[in-house]
Amino acid sequence: MAALFEKGGVETIEDLLYYVPRAYTDWSRIADVDTLKVGDRVTVVVRVLSCDVARRGRRSTFVAALEDDTGAIFARWFNQPYLQNVLEKGTKAVVSGEVRFDKHARRTEFVNPAFEVIREDEAAELVHAGRIVPEYSQIGELSGRRIRRIMKTAIDRFIDGLVDPLPAGVRRKHSLPGLRDAMGDVHFPPSLERAERARSRLAYEEFFLFQVIVALRKLRGATGGPAVRFDWSDEEHGRLLASLPFELTGAQERVIGEIRRDMAGARAMNRLLQGDVGSGKTVVAAAAMHQAVADGYQAAIMAPTEILAEQHYENITALLEPLGDRVVLLRGGMKAADREEALRLIESGEAEVVVGTHALIQEGTKFGNLALAVVDEQHRFGVVQRAALRAKGKTPDILVMTATPIPRTLALTVYGDLDVSVLDELPPGRTPVATAVRDEAARTRVYEFLRKEIGEGRQVFVVYPLVEESEKVELSAATKMYEELKGKVFEDATVGLIHGRMKPEEKDAVMDGFKKGATDLLVSTTVVEVGVDVPNATVMVIEHAERFGLAQLHQLRGRVGRGAHRSYCVLMVGPGASDEARERISVLADTNDGFEIAERDLEIRGPGEFLGVRQHGLPRFSVADLARDSRLLVRARDDAFAFVDDDPGMKGAEAALVRAAIERRFRDRETFIDVG
Ligand code: ADP
Ligand code: MG
Repeated sequence: MAALFEKGGVETIEDLLYYVPRAYTDWSRIADVDTLKVGDRVTVVVRVLSCDVARRGRRSTFVAALEDDTGAIFARWFNQPYLQNVLEKGTKAVVSGEVRFDKHARRTEFVNPAFEVIREDEAAELVHAGRIVPEYSQIGELSGRRIRRIMKTAIDRFIDGLVDPLPAGVRRKHSLPGLRDAMGDVHFPPSLERAERARSRLAYEEFFLFQVIVALRKLRGATGGPAVRFDWSDEEHGRLLASLPFELTGAQERVIGEIRRDMAGARAMNRLLQGDVGSGKTVVAAAAMHQAVADGYQAAIMAPTEILAEQHYENITALLEPLGDRVVLLRGGMKAADREEALRLIESGEAEVVVGTHALIQEGTKFGNLALAVVDEQHRFGVVQRAALRAKGKTPDILVMTATPIPRTLALTVYGDLDVSVLDELPPGRTPVATAVRDEAARTRVYEFLRKEIGEGRQVFVVYPLVEESEKVELSAATKMYEELKGKVFEDATVGLIHGRMKPEEKDAVMDGFKKGATDLLVSTTVVEVGVDVPNATVMVIEHAERFGLAQLHQLRGRVGRGAHRSYCVLMVGPGASDEARERISVLADTNDGFEIAERDLEIRGPGEFLGVRQHGLPRFSVADLARDSRLLVRARDDAFAFVDDDPGMKGAEAALVRAAIERRFRDRETFIDVG
């Protein structure tokens, strides 16, 4: 049994108790048989009058006639022939279900009702019928009914062993029921109101414990050793501003101010910079990195893909080399000699600004004196990578940048230990990207439109989705489309192809051609997803848009609308797309607000999918639901931070309970990586 439960992550009695029902069915209404009407959802207390199993091949129907003192009714169960041994003639049972009318037999009956046998000698409480019945998701071979029976035993025998980890003050403040009451009610509730009250108390508890981890993580991060106190001289900053081809937006100035205060402080910076695509995060990072260099230290920026790293390298070189900073690129797929040279420069400290992929956090990469680490497009990296980069310096300041606006609940969970800055203003002169959803019937017209844009000197992206687990399929679809577009549709235009299987040099060449305007239309797999900057590109066509998440589509759309020309995004839906999928992606046609889209995406897909599953320090909550319980989370967070503030060493008796509960309930390693 233990082995079966383990598959569902249930290893201890406590784990089992926290395996709460996914729903309840209210079978608490008990009625006399002679009052039953079609459509009633009721419970009857009956005796089996007669029964029979009819078999046809491998199928079977078990039929029983049931009676109480007022009348009789039939019940049928499909494919459960063993019931003839359970509901034998004369057996007393409680039966709960919906009353239906069977046209052929011309009688009312129950079909597959819930039931429970009553034994004369037992005054046992009902579990499966005749009450508000908890419904459990099955775990492997363990059916919901089986789990329910085991749960009842666990509650009856072990509930007294539960120790409430919530501090008394917190419990009083929100008038929360005690743990034992809540646990009893959540599984076998006397009313649906009590069930919800119990569930939300347990969800609160889970959030509270997790936010204590976050609070500790933040505290440790902030006091993990003295960080460099950067000078950030006005003079150096002025030099940078003077060399920019544009003026900073108000939001950029504000955020740079926030970073400046952090970097000047005695504690290491731990800041998340959120900014929609195109909001100008790169120059903010460059300003901070330049300052680190001006003070005699190294700065590094880590990007999730080769193309992005390269683009950062170009942009940052253009921004900072005129000021005298030495910028060095480190990525996978470099020639051995180049790579060695880069590693040498990084170790000696001659490389003042280091731009790279995750090659930066590999073991062989050693920094001379890294004091500022920037992580771009954070949603591709997790807590682990962040920690690895931090470990490359003594206590470097950390700036994490993300273009995927993160719903508040997730931000508080995954990045809860970071201070947050938001670039909520786009550089001037941008018009929102006009977005439309189209299907195959419109393909010819879409192509005509592309031809027109190309005729006016603009450029076009056509993007293919990543087909899960099959780079090959993706590749062949993109290649086919490339051939078709090149040969038939756009004879006068230059069509390029880029995909994940190409060698870095090949990608470079293609990307270069597109950036310089030599290529009019670029067919691409999702490698262009993040960050690529080609201001002259005005149309983004996304094939099989229904296969993408909303946040991802928004990212892709952000590749256009970066220059002065009006830009467009065409979301092509495949013939197999459901109405729901169409409806879902039409959210993009309604709004350009990344935060709104992110909230919708979280609602629709759930947090795991949204972030791309585990990897992100996102724990698996067993009771709480991030999309639904956001108000609880905010409260629990405030309480948890106040609690840690009062007892930062976690020395008191209440802290000991909290700590022990955390250790039992959040056993996965990732959660603790920064807490130690
Ligand atoms: P993202 O936040 O998506 O990384 P980038 O940093 O790539 O955005 O900036 C997008 C584009 O906007 C770049 O071409 C950049 O040079 C330009 N840009 C950034 N800040 C400004 C500004 N204040 N005024 C005008 N253009 C800007
Ligand atoms: Mg960027």
